[in-house]
Parts: sequence; structure tokens; C-alpha cells
Amino acid sequence: MSVLDKSFGIIGCGIGGLAVSIAIAKLGGHVVLFERAKKITEVGAGIQISANGLSALADLGIELEHFNAISKPLAIELRDYKVGSLVARIRQNQDVGFPYLQLHRADLMNILIARAEKLGVTIFLDADAEVIDALSNHPKVQANGTTYNFDLIVGADGVNSTTRQDWFNEGPAKFSGKVAWRATVPANIISTVTTVYMGRGKHLVTYPLRGGQLINIVAVQECKEMVSEGWDNVGTLQSFCLEFSDFGPEVQKILSQVRHVKRWGLYTHSPLKTWSLNHLTLLGDAAHPMFPFMAQGACMALEDASVLARVINDTDDINHALKSYEAIRKSRVTSVQNLAARNGKIFHISNMFMRICIHNALRLISRFTPQLLERRFDWIYKHKI
Ligand SMILES: Cc1cc2nc3c(=O)[nH]c(=O)nc-3n(C[C@H](O)[C@H](O)[C@H](O)COP(=O)(O)OP(=O)(O)OC[C@H]3O[C@@H](n4cnc5c(N)ncnc54)[C@H](O)[C@@H]3O)c2cc1C
Repeated sequence: MSVLDKSFGIIGCGIGGLAVSIAIAKLGGHVVLFERAKKITEVGAGIQISANGLSALADLGIELEHFNAISKPLAIELRDYKVGSLVARIRQNQDVGFPYLQLHRADLMNILIARAEKLGVTIFLDADAEVIDALSNHPKVQANGTTYNFDLIVGADGVNSTTRQDWFNEGPAKFSGKVAWRATVPANIISTVTTVYMGRGKHLVTYPLRGGQLINIVAVQECKEMVSEGWDNVGTLQSFCLEFSDFGPEVQKILSQVRHVKRWGLYTHSPLKTWSLNHLTLLGDAAHPMFPFMAQGACMALEDASVLARVINDTDDINHALKSYEAIRKSRVTSVQNLAARNGKIFHISNMFMRICIHNALRLISRFTPQLLERRFDWIYKHKI
């Protein structure tokens, strides 16, 4: 099915939904995007986009490196949480052969929305969408009492996707036992280093945003109490500071400047047998949620979007196209999901003996063969869609 003159219903106006709308509209498809929120507001926090995400964005006609207000970190430093001693330093951007950027989420969303609108994507806000007739060749979306027919529907409705739950025999996403805290604090810094303070059962990451005017903080901890998954779940500042009060003076200095913090329960669901059902498919977190410990969830959604648009444009057989989409994407995202989960374990080692062994091994590698740390994720970052 060539995309030209066909109609596409996209559910969810996150990074994934916007990206696939742009990718399809760019090829000439008619796209309607449904978003349940009344307005599109992004959490006040940063996002890291690695070279693979940048290459997917370039495919959408967005050259992120040309925008103001991006940061290009020179390195990522892994440090001990208590004394702040350096465990490993991994160079980024300097002669490593590919770019790695950080920016404010709201800035990225604004860029995507402007591009989607320019390409004629219709965006309905305050539109809680439900897929009906998913097994037909013209599945429908029902939103605000109106029914819309499409040639293909894409569920990009996030980790708690109702499209997935309604049509793929899946229950709701499950709480993973981890929560993320996010905040930004004003700053005036020239350092462009990302720092990961690795604690016991928790870690905290900082990096500068908007040319060093802000410091982005994301902290993740193991947590028995269930926390809902919305960005607007405002955590109390007091409990955030208390949870990380065992971190050293560098972290305490940053925490003392935090005025607002948001808490986000991390949810997950078991791998799906299939991502597609006749003329309905899933993308981004709706298909394959992952822990944020590789900073790849949004990058994977961007890659999904480019691949999906390409395969449906390449053939007249939609079922064949959706099978290709899944075949191209599934093993890659599964590997990244597994790696992210593994990274979380390294960031959170509680056992003292294990901590000493792993941290010392990382110290030695970082000192004597740093290229091993710099190149080990080439398969993710250098990937071309
Ligand atoms: C703490 C943290 C840090 C992260 N850092 C990074 C990073 O640095 N780099 C990176 O690449 N990734 C990162 N990620 C992952 C990334 O944020 C997500 O993978 C990505 O945003 C998922 O995008 P999405 O479009 O699939 O889903 P979402 O962003 O969840 O969007 C889904 C949208 O669908 C809407 N919706 C839901 N149901 C309906 C409905 N029935 N009708 C209409 N609309 C609906 C929702 O309102 C929402 O707007 C991080 C994640 C976390 C938690």
C-alpha cells in the first residue's frame, strides 16, 4: 500500500505518535492524531537523544543539531554516590564518531508539533480515542462521540496503552518496583558532563540543559509502594530529599536548589506475541516499554516511526508490511530493553562486595582501555534505519 492518499489514525501525541504522523504525512498520507490530554504539555525535564535517534529525526526532516538550546555532553561520568569518586569516564561527542545530544523535552515536542502541523497532520486534543472494528480492513477510531474510518491505525498510546489492552489480550501494565524523580534547577554552568551517581538500590543523574541555564535531575530508586505512572504525579520535595539524603555533598548541593519535583512510577508489560492485528499496529512504549537506564525509549519510538512509514509505503500488502515492521524492529528493541534492565542493576548494586568488584573493574577498563566503554554501544548508536 503506498501511503499516498491513504488515511491513518494515530492514537497518542507523545514523541512516538508525533514521529509516525510526520513520517507518514511526509510521504503524502492523510494523518489524524488523537490525544486525550486537553493540551500538550511536557514534563519540565531533559531528554537524551543519541545518534540513532538523531538519524531517525533527520529522516523526518528534523536536523536537531541545528537547533539552539541543545547540549552536547563531552563525557558521561559514573561516580560513587557517597564520596563522588570517579568510577568510569566515557567520552561522548569528542572524536567518538557520532553525536549525542541533550535537550529540554518541551523543546523537542515543540519542534515535532511544528513539523507535524507544517505537513498537514490534524491533531485532535481532548480526544480520548478507542479503536473499534480492529479486525476489518478499515478499522475505526471513536473519539468524543464521532467515528473515523482509516486504512491503518497506529496505537502510540504509551506504556498503559488501551489499544494494546483492548485488542492484544493484555492486562494493564504492571508496576516495576522502581520510581523516577525528575526536577530541573536553575544554573549557570559551563560543564557539559553527564554525571551518574550510583547508589545502593538507587542512582541519580545530572546534566546541563539549555546551554547550562538549567541542571536536569533524574533519580531512580527501588520502591515497594506502588506509584502511578503519570508525569503529573507530584512528589513531595521533602521525601525526595530524604530518600537521597545518603548521597554525598555534590548531590546535596544540587538537591538544596530543587523547588519542585515530580515522581513517576516505572511500568512495564510482558513482551507481546505480536505488535499488529490486521490494519492495526502498536509503536513506541505501547509496543515495547523499557527502563530509562539506556536513555533509549524515545529513540526507539523514533526508529519505529521511520521504519513503519517506509515499509507501508513499499508494498500494497498491509499485512506483509506490518510483519516486516515487526521483523525489523523486534529483535533490536528486545536487545535494548534487556540492556537497559542490566544497566539498572549495575547502577543500583547494593551488595558491598559486588559493588567493590564491579566498580574496580570499571575503573580499570576506563583507565586502560577506555575505547571498550566508548564502543560497546556502537550497535545502538551507529545503527541506520
Ligand atoms: C525517567 C525517564 C527518563 C527517560 N529518558 C529518556 C531519554 O533520555 N532518552 C530516550 O530516548 N528516552 C527516555 N525515556 C523514555 C521515553 O520518555 C519514552 O520511551 C517515550 O517518551 C515514549 O513515547 P511514546 O510516544 O511511545 O509514549 P508516551 O510519551 O507515553 O505518549 C503516549 C501519549 O498517548 C496519549 N494517550 C494514551 N491513551 C490515549 C487514548 N486512549 N486516546 C488518546 N491519547 C491517548 C497520552 O496522553 C500520551 O500523550 C525516559 C523515560 C523515563 C521514565
